[in-house]
Formats: sequence, structure tokens, C-alpha cells
Amino acid sequence: MPLGIDKSDFLQEKNKKLERDLRTKDERIVALETENAMLYLKLAQMRSSLQCSREEVSGLQSQYDSETKFRQNVIESALKFKQELESIKRKLAALQRVAVDLPIQFQNDIKHANSVVQRHRHLFVSQTSSLSTMQEQLSQLQGSLQDITEQHAKEKKRRQELHNVLMELRGNIRVHCRVRPLMDFDCGGEDTKMLGSSGTKSEVVVHYMDDENVCVRTTKHNKVFEYERVYSPDESQEFVFDEVQPMMTSLLDGYNICIMAYGQTGSGKTHTMLGSHKNEDYHLRMEPHKDEGVIPRAARELFRLISEKPEGTISVEVSVVEIYNNDIRDLLSGDPSAKHDVITGADGSLSIPTLTSSPRTIELRKQLVQKKVDKIQDVMSFVQYGLRMRRESATMVHEHSSRSHLVVTLTVNSQAPNFLSKPATPSPAPDVPESFKHMLIQTQYYPGSLIPYAVRAALLANIALGTPVIMGRPSTAPAGGRDRRGRSLSLMTTASFESPPQSPIVPSTPAVIRTKLQLVDLAGSECVGMSGVTGVALREASNINKSLSALADVLGALAEHRPHVPYRNSRLTHFLQDSIGGDAKLLVLLCVAPAQRYITETTQCLGFGQRARQVQRGPTKRRLPSSAEKVGGFGKASFR
Ligand code: ADP
Ligand code: MG
Repeated sequence: MPLGIDKSDFLQEKNKKLERDLRTKDERIVALETENAMLYLKLAQMRSSLQCSREEVSGLQSQYDSETKFRQNVIESALKFKQELESIKRKLAALQRVAVDLPIQFQNDIKHANSVVQRHRHLFVSQTSSLSTMQEQLSQLQGSLQDITEQHAKEKKRRQELHNVLMELRGNIRVHCRVRPLMDFDCGGEDTKMLGSSGTKSEVVVHYMDDENVCVRTTKHNKVFEYERVYSPDESQEFVFDEVQPMMTSLLDGYNICIMAYGQTGSGKTHTMLGSHKNEDYHLRMEPHKDEGVIPRAARELFRLISEKPEGTISVEVSVVEIYNNDIRDLLSGDPSAKHDVITGADGSLSIPTLTSSPRTIELRKQLVQKKVDKIQDVMSFVQYGLRMRRESATMVHEHSSRSHLVVTLTVNSQAPNFLSKPATPSPAPDVPESFKHMLIQTQYYPGSLIPYAVRAALLANIALGTPVIMGRPSTAPAGGRDRRGRSLSLMTTASFESPPQSPIVPSTPAVIRTKLQLVDLAGSECVGMSGVTGVALREASNINKSLSALADVLGALAEHRPHVPYRNSRLTHFLQDSIGGDAKLLVLLCVAPAQRYITETTQCLGFGQRARQVQRGPTKRRLPSSAEKVGGFGKASFR
């Protein structure tokens, strides 16, 4: 290019062209990018539609699979149905064959059923006749059952009568002997390993022979003692009480009862009477603890017997007394140091007021506390309370309980049958069943005489059965009187029954029979040598000796039927007068230890028992009811 040519236009032109190219290219780029973007978009759309198609394909595939499966199932079911259809066809063919035979079969069956019905009709006719025979037999049986029930009631009455006859035939004092087992303390100072060995002081010399004989065998002695009952060392408390139990029935039948344990200290008196278990939970168990003694068991049995009687006809009171140094201390009074006296009233009743020197303070005298009780735990809690008072009031250094007599008294007030009730106003003689008249006519009935046995039996049966009987009436003259032994009586005379019936019976005041059960744990009967003994111990020993020999004297006087029985020689015998003499039933439980070291005391005790057994008092007598008025005034009245 020649110099001086203006190149700027060219360059500008060139530049513009380039710029146009560039713009074109840019536009092209933009167009391509737009196109590219469109393509991307399209690609994405294609991809998503491809995905949808894939999913559709897989859905169609699974649908195809399931339909294929379904088809297969349908084919299988069709096959099965075909088979079933075939078998149904076969069965139908068989049924068709049976259907052809069925009418014939039916005819045969109907024939058979007819013959069965025929047979049963005959059977029914014959059974109907035997049913009526059985109904007749049943009514006969019901009749004889009633007869038997009546007979049973009669037999029950008779058993009751026989029981009382038996008890009356055993009218003398009963003496039982209990040999206790050998105990560790029987060794004394000797080695316990030698317990019971021959030649030692603990050698067993008292042997149970049989249930009536006990034998003492040493080099010096060889003697057999016989009693109504002998208990071996193995015999349980329950077993001992089984023998005592009938006396509880007698108590409710109107007899005073005394059960006393006699023996030296350590011979088992307290074990026998109270039990030596440490328990005060009489209310927790209905079944007796195996170690319970006569007192809790007697209370239990008494309330059991009462529960069989009509409610509210019998009430019971308890008193707990200690006789120490010939003084009576009331252990329920709260003041056991106060001493009581025993006073026999003009009518023979006993009262136990506190002792006083001044006649002016006579009104201030307090009677023995009697607590009303209606279950065993009441009785036992008063006994336990009494025992605590006894321990607390003890003044001696040595064992107090063996130095005093403990007497638990249960007084039973039983409502008598109506025919023994005292009429509210004197009334003419009522109807007396013929069967009773002949019994009554035989015996004129006076205070102290025996009630004719049959009348007593009727009376007992009525008390036992709790039957309100209206027959006869007590004569007004002797009613409420007392016999020579101080028992309270409501009486009948034959005269009153012999007069002809005149008018209906007027309502009567219920008469009450009061009986006493005295349970005695005597002081130790050991022969305490007086030499060398002084002070309290001497006084105690002499008082125990006196009271136990007074007891022996009383039993001796009863044995010889002496007109005078020296009950008043000691407060023990005076206090127990009602329940050891006269018409009462006394059980002496001799307690003996088997060891050689006690031989002197043992033979003395067994000898005492043998002498007591000689007591023959003839038939015992039931208590008759005291009048209601007397019982009503009992709170203040004497202890009878
Ligand atoms: P006591 O009252 O006559 O002084 P205990 O009744 O206290 O005598 O008896 C003395 C000991 O002998 C007590 O430990 C008591 O448990 C025991 N004992 C007495 N008799 C028997 C018996 N039959 N069986 C078992 N132990 C007895
Ligand atoms: Mg004792």
C-alpha cells in the first residue's frame, strides 16, 4: 500500500466488519446457547418420559406376573374343581344307589323302632307300679326315720340320765394320781448324766403300773396304791382333762364341783391345774395349747356346754383367791393385802367379807369380787391378773406360789326349767302329766331329802335339752328354803301335785340354780421340819400343815359319816365347804414326782389320797334352784 494513503477508513471499515462479525457470532452463540438449552430441556423431558415409561413397563411387568400367577391359580382351581366334580359325581351316583335302597331300609328301621317303643311301653307300665310301691316305702321310711329321731332324742335323754346315775354312783370323792416325768432338777446336786440311774437320789421309784395302780418300790418300800385313775408320766394334759371333762356336765346339771391338785412343791400341781407354758394368748386360738392345764380347759369346756343351751339362760362369774397363812386374799379386788373371813349365815350360806375387828364397821366390809365372764379369755385374763397380784403382793423371799393355796371359783347361774320356777302369786296346783305324778307320789320331798330319781332325770333332761317345760309348780311353803348344807332350794311337795288341776299356770319368776366349780392349786404338801425354821418360814409351814391336815380331817369326818364335819378348822376347808362336802363332787389330783429323793413326801401324798378315797358319801345330790329374788340380790349377797 502506498504511503500516504489514509488507512483509517479502511481500518474503521475493517473494524466495523469485524465488529459485525463479532456481533453475528455473538448472536450465533446466543442462538446456539438457546438451542442448546432447548435441547437440554428436551433431553430432560425425554429422560423423565423414559423414566415414566420404565416404571410403566415394570408396573405392566408385575401386573403381567400377577396375572400369570392368577391364571395359574385359576387353572389349578379349575383342575381341583374338576376333580371334585368328578368325585361328587361319583358320590351322587353312589347316593342314587343308596336312595334306591333307602325306603327299604326305612321300613326295616320303623319296624325295629316300633318294637322298641312297644318294649318301653311295657317297661314304663311296670316301673310306674314299682314307683308307687317305692313311694309307699319312702313314706314308711320317713315314718320310721321320725320314730328313730324320737327314739334318738329319748336315748339322748336316757344317756344323760345314765351319765348322772354313773356320776352319782361314783358319789364318793374321786382320787386320781399323776406321776410326772423325771426332770433335770431331780438330780439335785448330782451330775445330770446320772439322772435316773439306780442307786442315785434321782432313781425312779414311783412306777405307773396300769391306769388304776401305781407302785412305790425301793429297798424299804414296796407298795401298790390304787386310785380311780392313774396317769403315766407320758400322759398329756389333754388326756388328763378328758377324765375331768364329765364333771363339767355335772356342773351344769346342778352339782358343785371341786378339783384340787395335791402334792409337794415341784410335783406338777401348777402344771396340771394351769399348765406351765408361757402363754397368755388364750383369745388367739380356739384349739387349746397342748400344755394348757385343767383350769383353762375347764373354762373352755364350760363355755362350750353353755353354747349348746338356749342363749341367755346361763351366766358365769369368776373369783380368784389366795389362802396364805390361813388368810383369804382376794386377788381380783385390787387390794390383795385385805384379808377376808368365811362366815356361814343362818341359812347355811357362805359369805366372804373382809375381816374387821370392829362390829361398827360391818357395813364397810367388802365381799369377794366376782367378775362376770362369758368366754375363756375373760376367765384366763382374770386368772392371769390374779396371779400377777399374787406375785406382786408376795412378802417372802422364797417361792411364794408353793406357800399358798390358789382357788379359782367359777359360779354358774342356770335358769331352771319352768316347773321349778317360783310362781309370782300362790296358784292352785296345775296340770301334772300322769307319768310324773306316780314318781312324785312315792316320795315326800323335804329340804335335804333326795329328789326321786325319775324326777331328777326328767329335770336333768329338760335342763339338758333346754326345753321350756311347764309341769307342776313348787310348793309355796318350802320354796326358797335351804337344806342342812346351806344349798338354796325351791321345792315341790307331793301334796301340791296330788290336788286336782284347777286353773292355768300363772306366769312364774324364773328360778336359778347356782353351782360352783372350784379349782384349787394347793400349797406344797412337803413335810417341812419345824426344827431350825423360824420367822416367816415357820409361820408358813405351820399354816400349810394346819390347812392340809384340816383338809384330811374333813375328808376323814366325811368318810366316817360323822355328824360334825370340822370345815371351820381352817379357812381353806371352810372356803371350800360347799364343794368338798355334802352333795358336791370332789376330784383330788395327786401329783407325785418319780424320784427316790422325794420318797417320804410321795408316800405321804399317796397315803393322803388313799384315805380320801375311803370317803363314802352315798349318792350325791343335785343343786336345786334358789329363788329368783335371792339371785337378784347376789351383787350384795353372800358368796355361796
Ligand atoms: P408344783 O406346782 O407342784 O410346785 P410345777 O407344776 O411347778 O410343780 O412343776 C414343776 C416343774 O415340773 C415345772 O417345770 C413343770 O413344767 C414340770 N412338770 C410338772 N409336771 C409335768 C408333766 N406332767 N410333764 C412335763 N413337765 C412337768
Ligand atoms: Mg405350783
